[in-house]
Amino acid sequence: MPKKVDEYYVVRESKIGPTIFDIFKFDEDFNPVETSVYQVSLSNGMPAGCTCWQRKTFCRHKKILLAYQEAGKLGQEFFYNYTRETWHKPFGQ
Ligand SMILES: [Zn+2]
Repeated sequence: MPKKVDEYYVVRESKIGPTIFDIFKFDEDFNPVETSVYQVSLSNGMPAGCTCWQRKTFCRHKKILLAYQEAGKLGQEFFYNYTRETWHKPFGQ
């Protein structure tokens, strides 16, 4: 089995609108993956659409936004470790 690499994400409220969130990906060393930025929209408090190519009913970006909502961490700049489902404090705090 290949070793699982940690993947981190940060969700930020988008400047586009109050129900849109930008999902940023970071590698295992917390370097931003510039090609992996997606927007997820909320409808009635649930993730509705995503700009990624996965075209799944529930892509990982929607799962990540839900994890932020459930943990009450929206707007807090926490890193979410998608591989381990753990949280990492923002740097400098
Ligand atoms: Zn997606």
